Amino acid sequence: MAIKSVLIIYTGGTIGMVNDPETGALCPFNFEQIAKAVPEIKEFSFNIDSYTLPEIIDSSDIQPTVWAELCKIILAKYDQYCGFVILHGTDTMAYSASALSFMLGNLTKPVVFTGSQLPIGTIRTDGRENLIAALEIAAATEEGKSVVPEVCILFGAKLYRGNRTTKVDAESFDAFQSFNYPPLAEIGIHIDYNYSAIDYSSKTAPLEVFTGMNTHIAVLKLFPGIGIEVIDSIINTPGLRGLILETYGAGNAPTTKQFLNKIKEAGEKGIIVYNVTQCQGGSVEMGRYETSREMINYGVTSGYDITMEAAVCKLMYLSEKYSDTNEIKKYLNSPLKGEITQKRIGF
Ligand code: ASP
Repeated sequence: MAIKSVLIIYTGGTIGMVNDPETGALCPFNFEQIAKAVPEIKEFSFNIDSYTLPEIIDSSDIQPTVWAELCKIILAKYDQYCGFVILHGTDTMAYSASALSFMLGNLTKPVVFTGSQLPIGTIRTDGRENLIAALEIAAATEEGKSVVPEVCILFGAKLYRGNRTTKVDAESFDAFQSFNYPPLAEIGIHIDYNYSAIDYSSKTAPLEVFTGMNTHIAVLKLFPGIGIEVIDSIINTPGLRGLILETYGAGNAPTTKQFLNKIKEAGEKGIIVYNVTQCQGGSVEMGRYETSREMINYGVTSGYDITMEAAVCKLMYLSEKYSDTNEIKKYLNSPLKGEITQKRIGF
């Protein structure tokens, strides 16, 4: 039987950073230094290869073009590796993992994002444990099939579905949370897989990648006192295709005529208005309160329990893939890669 291999793709982030001697700021160093700092990875019974992106970046500089690049690498190397580990900065990791979950179709192998809060060369680094566990999960197979055939995030002893994850802490080693979906695995003495949460739906077609993302979208966070002129200027942005409205609670927004007229106007301009709650846990339930009922009449689409990161990526992906507004709304309304759980209205 051929020996298994995992490919590490290094994009940048704290995991591989050092202090710039001149400025003292953290800046990226190279993968060889990471491998030197974690010699344990040589002891695995599978091969590990690595690929460093031509330009390693702090993840705050990530762009959809980098997501496309990652997809193309995975497609090109798909048959050679049983899994992929992407070393990535934590700041936008949840966006990148969400994006790849939509861009990679018929995925049957793990794509595990990980990173760290402290650079891997430092004594108390969390990067060592994260990298080792991510590699083990990327290589894990049972009866010849990947145990976690999904895009996921490994961080602080938990494995999460990538498009369910949010960065919640800028300092803690448990920097990520998945409020609306259970972890796919917990890492302790053993890696304890939560089989019933992992997507084992049958995929017989070969891997396909979709590399386009329509970035003509905007996010508008509601707050008490928000000026109507702010909403007005956003919906008059030339070429705007979609507007994520970050609403209160179960998807609620002001009921004033002024506000609702702007939402109506957005719909009439062909802008897809997508209702995503500011709450991290729980779901949008449009129509539950008077404050969201009217938005249904203006064609606003429910985000259910989607994360903001996944909502941004899903909207970009669908807006590029389909031109018909109703078709985009139809797909926003259904789970594509396990990113939402639809809740029925009712008490
Ligand atoms: N600014 C860094 C980044 O996201 C933070 C990190 O890696 O944790 O690239």
